[in-house]
Amino acid sequence: MNIAVCIKQVPATESKIKPAEDGLDIDRTGLSYVVNPYDEFGVEEALKIKEQVGEGKVTVISIGSDKTVEALRTCLAVGADEAIHIKDDALAKGDTYITALVLSVALKKGDYDIIFFGRQAIDDDSGAVGIQVAELMGLPHVAGINKFDLNAEGRTAIANRQIEGASEIVETSLPAIFTCQKELNEPRYASLPGIMKARQKPMTVWSLSDLELTAEDCGAEAAKVAIEKITSPPVREAGKKIEGDVPQAVAELVRLLREEAKVF
Ligand SMILES: Cc1cc2nc3c(=O)[nH]c(=O)nc-3n(C[C@H](O)[C@H](O)[C@H](O)COP(=O)(O)OP(=O)(O)OC[C@H]3O[C@@H](n4cnc5c(N)ncnc54)[C@H](O)[C@@H]3O)c2cc1C
Repeated sequence: MNIAVCIKQVPATESKIKPAEDGLDIDRTGLSYVVNPYDEFGVEEALKIKEQVGEGKVTVISIGSDKTVEALRTCLAVGADEAIHIKDDALAKGDTYITALVLSVALKKGDYDIIFFGRQAIDDDSGAVGIQVAELMGLPHVAGINKFDLNAEGRTAIANRQIEGASEIVETSLPAIFTCQKELNEPRYASLPGIMKARQKPMTVWSLSDLELTAEDCGAEAAKVAIEKITSPPVREAGKKIEGDVPQAVAELVRLLREEAKVF
């Protein structure tokens, strides 16, 4: 059973994000990075399936700068078998389509039965890449899964999705793509031996030419969506505290709602 997990390195959740001066990216000064939390569910599920089946390989794949190696090593430390790092300067201004195109070409080079993605990356939040890869590869996909079961022969899988007020149970043939939602599992932590072993595990580096893609296929001109500007949300005005005894305060509240907030 060969399983691939596409992971993205994202700013840590506690990071204070502000736009960069050019308004086209975030200011990355002093940020610390983690594996996108939804992708960690994918890595954990892949490891559990491999343990359940008793054989197979878990490959983690990421597109990103040299720093991305840290995220890939984190996944190797918890138990993934090998990593593929795709880096190329031409990819710096890609959109979800370019990301999906490059990942789909890379994934086609492997013979994967199951491919996991996070349901969304917590920085850009598009929630699009996994589904776009499924479309580009012509594979079935199940989005936002919170339970996964492999059938006895490993030819189909049953996944649950939480929908409004109910749980949807979907059976699909394999190979297939799944995007992971948070209740799927409890990701494990890396052990010290795991961290040591990760340094010896294979990490393949591919550029666009290794994937027979060009800068024209994957540059800003090929993107379908362009970011026009990144801005901070407007600063919220401070709340108003109404002083005085209750009848006075209620009268003042009603006046403010009528005259200032104009809610009636
Ligand atoms: C300098 C800069 C310029 C940019 N310009 C643009 C632009 O002009 N237009 C635009 O639309 N976007 C732009 N982006 C955003 C960037 O292209 C997005 O990161 C990308 O589109 C993926 O979207 P997302 O992170 O929201 O993914 P989602 O669709 O939310 O991610 C879902 C899942 O896909 C997988 N995934 C996502 N990214 C990767 C990855 N890199 N490697 C492996 N797996 C991955 C993960 O499993 C993830 O959980 C820019 C980013 C930077 C840093």
